[in-house]
Amino acid sequence: MDARALAALAANPGCRRRALLDGAGIDKSALARALGSPASFGQSQFAIQRGHSFEARVTADRGEALVRLLHERLRDGSPAPAPDGVDAPDLTAAGPQGRTARTALALREATAAGRWALLDHPMVSLDVAGSPAFLEPDAIVVHPDGSWSVVEIKSFPMVDGSADPAKVGAAARQSAVYALALEQVAARVGELKPDGEPGPDGGGAARTARVRHQVLLVCPKDFSNLPTAELVDVRKQLSVTRRQLTRLTRIEDIAAALPEGTTFDLRLADDGRTATRPVDELTDAVDAVDAAYAPECLAACELAVHCRARSRGAGAVESLGRGVRGELGGLTTVEAVLAAALETDAGPTGDPAVDALRRAAALRAEALAAPGAAVCR
Ligand code: SF4
Repeated sequence: MDARALAALAANPGCRRRALLDGAGIDKSALARALGSPASFGQSQFAIQRGHSFEARVTADRGEALVRLLHERLRDGSPAPAPDGVDAPDLTAAGPQGRTARTALALREATAAGRWALLDHPMVSLDVAGSPAFLEPDAIVVHPDGSWSVVEIKSFPMVDGSADPAKVGAAARQSAVYALALEQVAARVGELKPDGEPGPDGGGAARTARVRHQVLLVCPKDFSNLPTAELVDVRKQLSVTRRQLTRLTRIEDIAAALPEGTTFDLRLADDGRTATRPVDELTDAVDAVDAAYAPECLAACELAVHCRARSRGAGAVESLGRGVRGELGGLTTVEAVLAAALETDAGPTGDPAVDALRRAAALRAEALAAPGAAVCR
């Protein structure tokens, strides 16, 4: 599960289907294709490659230019990085657990050193619904004062210091997930003496590891291939993500409620490697886990086309949006809404949603009966 998936999950914590599939490492794009409802979003191969080449350019020279860019944006009086003044620790290790441990050690050492350091593609972990998720930020910068900044590198352009707000918002939510995971590392590192031993310090000033709540968003400048950057405040996204992730049901509990033998394997287990599972079987398996579809899923989840069809098929008002769902109170299906609206003989019910629907239906009928209504129709 990556930070993009976690940010989407945090935006829809009531969806057990997504939590289970992501927790089990199911390829949701392949599942959606097998269900006959392929995802209608995602980056093209060309955009992915362009993003990789821009990122490689930004972090070349051991990240010195990137740290200078961050220092320029900060304007907080911290010392500018000297030539060769940015440490770039080696983060190589085996497996995600090994990389996470190596990153934590590098952060601790860099914090104690009191110098600028750039960690290129570190790895941090976050407990999500009882399972660890390993996350790979583009970069983390350690400041001489012991604080840490998340760096997010994107390939969408920044023109005159501003970029597409929807894309910036998505990047902020993703960065907030990294910051949340980093806060757990910072809490373990705590306060360090200059020699790297835990505080309180006897000699020089101690440095306390802490995560900055402004992330550096780096993008191509004005459609060129040159990097530019702006600081983005992610305090709001951080507190929303923190709250939403604690609301997730444990994945073991979701799995325990499934019928015995439920599987999302796209192949038939007993019929060779290439045979594919019938669509009906897969549909039953997916439908066995509760979903919480909302139109926002279309921009965030590979299963959105499938879930939308099921939601519409069931006449669920959720398919009209969370705002509409909230307004309708106890009316959960389109059928129930129409029945309540068209019951014209009865008086006020005391249910604000039902009474409002009846008023709206009466006004509509009145408007349609007026001269010229055929034009409006
Ligand atoms: S598309 Fe379906 S599985 Fe994905 S978040 Fe929405 S409801 Fe959940």
